[in-house]
Amino acid sequence: VKLVPPKDKKIDTVILNGCECEPYITADHRVMLEYGEKVLSGLSIIKKVLSPDDVYIAIEDNKEDAIDHLEELVVSMGFKDEFKIIPLESKYPTGAEKTLIGTILGREVPIGGLPLDIGVIVQNVGTAKAIHDAIFEGKPLIERVVTVTGAVKNPKNLLVRLGTPLRSLIEYCGGIEGKANEIILGGPMMGISHYDLGFPVTKGTSCVLVKETIPVKEQECINCGRCLSVCPMNLMPTMFARYAKAGRYDACKEAYIDSCVECGTCAYACPARIPIVQYTKVAKSELSKRAANK
Ligand code: SF4
Ligand code: SF4
Repeated sequence: VKLVPPKDKKIDTVILNGCECEPYITADHRVMLEYGEKVLSGLSIIKKVLSPDDVYIAIEDNKEDAIDHLEELVVSMGFKDEFKIIPLESKYPTGAEKTLIGTILGREVPIGGLPLDIGVIVQNVGTAKAIHDAIFEGKPLIERVVTVTGAVKNPKNLLVRLGTPLRSLIEYCGGIEGKANEIILGGPMMGISHYDLGFPVTKGTSCVLVKETIPVKEQECINCGRCLSVCPMNLMPTMFARYAKAGRYDACKEAYIDSCVECGTCAYACPARIPIVQYTKVAKSELSKRAANK
């Protein structure tokens, strides 16, 4: 969809997202270091397809080796006048699409809209590499880089065939250490828990995080306001949780739940341990069902 925007949407800017989407994950960092040429080659194809005025490559400023490597490649591959590398502060959730667009361009994606509504396409470095592989090597997406981290003996980034069971990745990294009882696919903020080691790696599996989780009981909201102060989208997360608990999904919509990027920062900051993102996801899902049934 991102490469075939509607005809009435002119794309003036492409941002290649080299920022990790969450803490713990280093897969994109590895892709930039190991496959920099392929990433830039894929980006040049994206540029040809979309003909934007500007192409930016966003990389967190703590990935100095990746910045240096891609800067050298941009020059040696003849893209000096076409691609501009933008180092960004390494602060979660820098890598979220809407945050990235706001930080680099100062533009705001409209509520319920997409980046292409404001003339922007954001692509991940892994996608750029996959485009290169498909076009120049005739290779479909059959593998991806996965960060295996947390309570494993030897955390690593692995190049993994899609469909490989999680068990194989964890065994390859020396097995589980300590009393870990939870596997999260994705990062600690937005990832989804899995308890089945036979579950396969998919194209969206950026990270396998093994950890020990101690169950905590949700408490009543104490109106401390922390969730509001940390929300990167300037929303009122506490209201989403309240409305969703009461089944007041329309009220969630009126409180701009569509602008929530599900970054999990609010839940992380909440002293009452309210799983705000889960409530948000439930509300969004209910609103989608209602919209589909209209
Ligand atoms: S998950 Fe919470 S902090 Fe993140 S955008 Fe949504 S409401 Fe805001
Ligand atoms: S951080 Fe938690 S306790 Fe504080 S206002 Fe938000 S939901 Fe309520």
